[in-house]
Amino acid sequence: MREMLKSFNPANGEVVGEVPVSSPEEIGEAVVRAHRAALGWRDQSLEERAQLLGRAAKRLDERAEELGHLLSREMGKPLKRGIGEVRFCSKGILGKLDEMVGALQPRTLEDDNTRSTLYYEPFGVCAAISPWNYPMSMPQWLIVPALVAGNAVVLKPSEETPLIAQAYVDTLNEFLPAGVLQIVHGADEQGRALVKADVDLIAFTGSRTAGKHILGSAADKLKRVILELGGKDPFIVLPDADIEAAAQCAVANGYENGGQMCVSNERAYVHESIAEAFEQRVAELVGNIRYGPWDDESAEMGPMINERQRAHVIGQIEDAIEKGATLLAGGVDHPDRFVVPTVLGNCDESMTVMRDETFGPVLAIQRVGSAEEAVRLANDNQLGLGGSVFGSPEAARGVARRIESGMVGVNKSCFGASGTPWVGAKESGYGYHGSVEGHRQFAQVKVISEGRLA
Ligand code: NAD
Repeated sequence: MREMLKSFNPANGEVVGEVPVSSPEEIGEAVVRAHRAALGWRDQSLEERAQLLGRAAKRLDERAEELGHLLSREMGKPLKRGIGEVRFCSKGILGKLDEMVGALQPRTLEDDNTRSTLYYEPFGVCAAISPWNYPMSMPQWLIVPALVAGNAVVLKPSEETPLIAQAYVDTLNEFLPAGVLQIVHGADEQGRALVKADVDLIAFTGSRTAGKHILGSAADKLKRVILELGGKDPFIVLPDADIEAAAQCAVANGYENGGQMCVSNERAYVHESIAEAFEQRVAELVGNIRYGPWDDESAEMGPMINERQRAHVIGQIEDAIEKGATLLAGGVDHPDRFVVPTVLGNCDESMTVMRDETFGPVLAIQRVGSAEEAVRLANDNQLGLGGSVFGSPEAARGVARRIESGMVGVNKSCFGASGTPWVGAKESGYGYHGSVEGHRQFAQVKVISEGRLA
């Protein structure tokens, strides 16, 4: 009998639907089909490819309510956020197509002797492997620039959210030539098979552990690899910070999506002179966060994606308390499938919550005596995705420059202006998204040069 992958509502375990698990043969066949489809796709002009994706984006928007329901029911986030994610995806495509087309236009450079033209050519077949936390935007980030650049794509979405990924691919496929975008299903085993198959580029978003494995597997054929991995973002509060603004940002960005966000604020380093006021305000705000299943209209946050993730987060809270942390909010009496939004005070670097990615609704606060100490502790971690610094603009900018992360916010979250790359440092991966640099990663640069005759 055909092996099926069931998808569950994380708030109560009900089966939302199922998809067939792809066999190794099917994964291989999908890649062969993709190579065939890539030949015709690359021959269409950049503008034609972009136009088709623009039409698909409009269709996504028309289906936002319906797809948002499925997304939320399968992933657990509140319905308004599920619908919001679909609309964000639609806008994300429409708002980026011109930037993508511009980034991939040929460029000419010349000196006295030579005129060279840089062409941005497709690699061929791109394997896209995505996580579950933003189950439509994460695949989209990988798929759309790859397609616009002229590659065919085989997506392996997270085993936690296969249904919404399938619905997304089906929607795009209403507009794309057959075989250009395909989907295979399964867990890490199917991800590994896809990485090993005859693909030219692997675009991956997910955990650091899986990223390292993929990089190793890609080495034998030197396949191109783009990695967007985990984070353990520091949140630094200097003595001259606006405490209310800092507390609001720490909570807004620390508990969004139940903390299941790669650039969640996970560890705060707060100057001792203002720590008490900051802690009190954060605890008050977090105490008011309502959580519930996807269809609870008052909920701002959903359940943990699965029991393993819930046990991991509760394990970090318990480890911290055992080592002397104090509970400023939540931390106990977690209902089935949920983690109560939690704030931990009196934390130090011996605690796993200060070192390893939490990916849950927890902010751990450590008091520090100086900006130097905050910088040292913030940088004493192999992950370096985002971060924030609150303080007088001049002081905060200086600290931000010293944080070893790809994206740092000064008196705000780390999200950059439109057109800036999404980029990690250190073991948070390499590669860019959502910028000229990001779009060009999905293309092979070819330089054709001619002599300039006087
Ligand atoms: P995960 O690494 O467990 O899984 C991600 C995807 O990779 C899934 O589709 C999974 O089936 C597949 N996979 C797992 N092991 C594999 C392997 N060895 N070879 C090939 N495929 C494999 O991650 P997750 O739990 O789904 O997502 C959470 C992680 O993603 C967190 O670490 C989070 O920080 C990270 N993330 C990063 C970003 C970013 O932009 N940097 C964005 C979202 C999530």
